Amino acid sequence: MQKIKILDSKCINCGVCTALCPTGALVLDKITWELKFSEIKCINCFACEASCPLGAIKK
Ligand code: SF4
Ligand code: SF4
Repeated sequence: MQKIKILDSKCINCGVCTALCPTGALVLDKITWELKFSEIKCINCFACEASCPLGAIKK
């Protein structure tokens, strides 16, 4: 199945995608404030892909 890829070089850890992810697969780490992706929680809805203002999420 097709999965999302986070392009770490583009991500600025803004958190926009975390607000849209319905399953909590995308969260900001509470200590480092860096984006963390949990593949096991991802249902491949791709809601996050369009949400990223920097195009850091790709199929
Ligand atoms: S594809 Fe859907 S479930 Fe997976 S990380 Fe993106 S918004 Fe969350
Ligand atoms: S919306 Fe884009 S830039 Fe912002 S945290 Fe998510 S992947 Fe990173």
